[in-house]
Amino acid sequence: MSVQPDVKPVLIIGGGVVGLTILRTLTCDVKLKGSVMLIEAEDHLCSHASGHNSGIACTGVDAPMGSLERALVRESLSNMRTWLDRFNLPFRPVGSLVADWGAREGEGEGEGEGEGEVMNKLRAVVEESHVAGDCDVELLTDRAKIISLEPNVNPAVSAAVHIKGEVVVDPWLIPMSYASHAVENGALIKKGFRATEVSFDENGGVWRVASKNGEVLYAKVVVSCVGNWGDEMFNNLKGKPAPFVNKPRKGQYTLFERTEGLLKRPLQPVPTDFTKGVFVFSTLYDNIVCGPTAEEQENREVAELDEETLEMLKETGKRRLPSLAEKKIVRSYAGLRPATSERDYQFQLDPMRNFLSVASIRSTGLTASLGIGRHAASLLTSVFDFLEVEKEKVIKTTKFKDVEELSREFRERKDGKVEIPFLGECFVTHPITQTGWSGC
Ligand SMILES: Cc1cc2nc3c(=O)[nH]c(=O)nc-3n(C[C@H](O)[C@H](O)[C@H](O)COP(=O)(O)OP(=O)(O)OC[C@H]3O[C@@H](n4cnc5c(N)ncnc54)[C@H](O)[C@@H]3O)c2cc1C
Repeated sequence: MSVQPDVKPVLIIGGGVVGLTILRTLTCDVKLKGSVMLIEAEDHLCSHASGHNSGIACTGVDAPMGSLERALVRESLSNMRTWLDRFNLPFRPVGSLVADWGAREGEGEGEGEGEGEVMNKLRAVVEESHVAGDCDVELLTDRAKIISLEPNVNPAVSAAVHIKGEVVVDPWLIPMSYASHAVENGALIKKGFRATEVSFDENGGVWRVASKNGEVLYAKVVVSCVGNWGDEMFNNLKGKPAPFVNKPRKGQYTLFERTEGLLKRPLQPVPTDFTKGVFVFSTLYDNIVCGPTAEEQENREVAELDEETLEMLKETGKRRLPSLAEKKIVRSYAGLRPATSERDYQFQLDPMRNFLSVASIRSTGLTASLGIGRHAASLLTSVFDFLEVEKEKVIKTTKFKDVEELSREFRERKDGKVEIPFLGECFVTHPITQTGWSGC
């Protein structure tokens, strides 16, 4: 007697913030019938880009005008505060300052530019923000006003744009809240499962996904959210090259010891088409961070640190915030943005082979995550009408413990883990959270 395989309605490949938000949205908002499943190659969720970012929910001003990225950033940001409150997650709604000191800082802005040129760039930031739908921005040309907002910045600051909508968040807790909510409501997560073979049975309309050690899963629809491996996975799913090529972009960071009250708002240079530039910002836990850089590299997996760049970051920090000269560096880390040859987010849905590929979520994926989940779910449900929903399903929501309690647990356990509702013991992968919770 042959045993019928257990066919999941949807199998998501990749346990970063993108895969996790889609898992949650399909389970809790769409209320798909049957358990949606997510597989993650590593032993811990958010081991790659989603565990090595800046942790700033940004307003999307640097995303191209009219892009899907900008639309999803805006949509997500307008729902983010409600989400954070719903799960008792910490945040600091401080806004940010795009500022100019008239000196070169790391990535090419400033040096040698006349005051007129700088003002034009800052005016362009204001205009771009308005076009992006963010009207709560202000051009500050009065040095005293800037210093009154941030008393510890280098007093040579000449002008700044105050973008009021940006929010400093805990970059690890947000994706974990998606994972927790999804599992609470029936989703399944399998870690340590690297999909090495995928094949589609066109007659039966079922995907077979196998790992190197012989485990096999079946699903009607596969969603690829594999970050820096997006083009390779697309190729495997479609049998043809992807319409984009992954180009990992490294960002290195330096973290200074905790110093309460030194800086409230992230300080950022004028963004370029290539990068938002090096930020100097305070985490929720009062570590001052300088970074990220934007360095293209071939390697998709390993983000190495180099002394010269870390020195440059330290100097950038000290220039913008002179009292950093007396502060100790406690940590450095680097992450790889899943950038591609394309500037915008890449959503490719294949109605013949029942898959959705989500790629090129390069430097705003945390901010845009609520929008990404909603967008992916609406693409899937509008095309795959065989996906059934359980309209009457009651969705439960369990809040997280207070962050003080989580950080105390983290310090006391000493194994790098905390207990997350419905997920059990979870390893904290993000250096910002690790450093903040360890009290350095
Ligand atoms: C330096 C830096 C700074 C950033 N700053 C910000 C910021 O301030 N604000 C913001 O909103 N965003 C920021 N981002 C962007 C954000 O972090 C990314 O957009 C987001 O993390 C991308 O998520 P992802 O799920 O696509 O990729 P990832 O987090 O990389 O997840 C992909 C997952 O897929 C898994 N995988 C790959 N292949 C397989 C396979 N075959 N089988 C199973 N699993 C597989 C990987 O192990 C990985 O865990 C930054 C990113 C970086 C690197």
